[in-house]
Amino acid sequence: MKQENKKCPICGAPASVLFNDFNGYIEGKTFDLYECSVCMASFVDPLISEAKLYNYIYNLGDKAPGYERYLRYAQLVTEFKNPLNILANAESVYWGVKNALEKYFKNKDISILEIGTGLGYLTYSLNKAGYSTKGLDISEEAVARANKRYGNYYTAGDLFEIVKKNIDKYDCVIMTELIEHVEDPKAFIGAAFSLLKEGGKLILTTPNKSTAPQGTVWQSDIPPIHLWWLAEDSILYIAKSFNKKCEFIDFTAYTSMFYEDKAVVPMEFLQANLPRMDTEGNLFPKHVNNSLKSRYLSIKMRYALSYLRRRFKTKSPSSRSATMCAVMY
Ligand SMILES: [Zn+2]
Repeated sequence: MKQENKKCPICGAPASVLFNDFNGYIEGKTFDLYECSVCMASFVDPLISEAKLYNYIYNLGDKAPGYERYLRYAQLVTEFKNPLNILANAESVYWGVKNALEKYFKNKDISILEIGTGLGYLTYSLNKAGYSTKGLDISEEAVARANKRYGNYYTAGDLFEIVKKNIDKYDCVIMTELIEHVEDPKAFIGAAFSLLKEGGKLILTTPNKSTAPQGTVWQSDIPPIHLWWLAEDSILYIAKSFNKKCEFIDFTAYTSMFYEDKAVVPMEFLQANLPRMDTEGNLFPKHVNNSLKSRYLSIKMRYALSYLRRRFKTKSPSSRSATMCAVMY
């Protein structure tokens, strides 16, 4: 049922509908987009994730739009001595994590759990950098692949179930680009806190709505992949509700080095061009990525080209990147 007004599931303030019947990732499923009037969180209605969608994406491999680069990183990290640096120079997400670890921990003698480890390359790279890191992911398939590729660092399981068992505690829990996928970010972050040792820290990254101009409806992945587009105030509110401090990593050093595209994509364009699957998980043909670059260039060459393109394009330094990196403790 469409409602003009709802309550923000994060802070409880009134939220209003910004866009009705937004076409989702799977054919025939639409969503209404809401925005909170206080913490500025945007969220979709219905707030329901679809586990099968991730199997579809894994099966599509490098044809899944926007996901191709993750496969590239998964291979690339095995080809360099310092893969954490390679990732940090590829995306602000990993730059943020690397800098958060260096800023908030005096040495590398700490235990880390990465939740939502996906293909596993960040956990692998953190281990290579000297941090003792384990990975957790809900997808058995992803975990099996990661264990085979990088060694036995990964476990499949549901965070809420793991928390009930309450076996291991960590100095640091990391969640990159995960919280925007879950139905209840507050409960999820609360569960992650309970895996921390006394004084431990939670590092999370998520697309930062605070960087978008006012009135921007949705510049995040298409629901039900992303269910949330959170602002810094949304994350501050969650931290406060658990009595935690929350600080954000300053991205000035990153944004003065690397170009980030800040153009807002109009909703009409998004609706016409967003990737979409049929109900069986097949991509609509017009969205299949057939670009030559993916086929004929080596992984290292593609990395080098995208690095150079971002490095030498016009930059506009800012303390905020398209992604935020929050440290809560
Ligand atoms: Zn709110």
